[in-house]
Amino acid sequence: MLTLALVAFTIGALYYLKLRRDRRKIGITSWVVDQDLDGRGVTVYRNNDLGLSCKPDVVERGKTVEYKSATIKGNARHGDVLYVAAQMLVVGKKEADLRYPNKSFTFRKDNPKMQRAMQSVRSIIGQMRKALQFRQSPRATPTPGKCRVCSFRNECQEAIR
Ligand code: SF4
Repeated sequence: MLTLALVAFTIGALYYLKLRRDRRKIGITSWVVDQDLDGRGVTVYRNNDLGLSCKPDVVERGKTVEYKSATIKGNARHGDVLYVAAQMLVVGKKEADLRYPNKSFTFRKDNPKMQRAMQSVRSIIGQMRKALQFRQSPRATPTPGKCRVCSFRNECQEAIR
């Protein structure tokens, strides 16, 4: 019986050490509350007042972490910052990391840039609600780069071709 318990303890300890090493490799150092890195996360976070829900890549005790596969040259991409702002509004953490393969950014909820991004998210939600109410499509913001890879480019009247 004691041998069995020792074997179970050793397997558990080895598994825990491997998990901790793997997480450190991708920059996760504190306690993980939830994760959806493998697409199998079960917790959906919701803000019913805003009508928003999300499944962040990683939710640690004090922050969310979002990973992007594309590399960037300068600042974090605007759309990604909005995404992080929306996550902050939904999950309620005070800090968020946005990680690209070559760069990493940390945002605090009380930072003016993040405050503006959260305001933009609220404004976008307001516009979407209005558009739904009046059954109108919201105005597009086409750019050659976005339209080239957009899955609606064949149907979209505003696409730049
Ligand atoms: S094709 Fe239309 S929906 Fe897609 S990015 Fe361009 S403007 Fe936006």
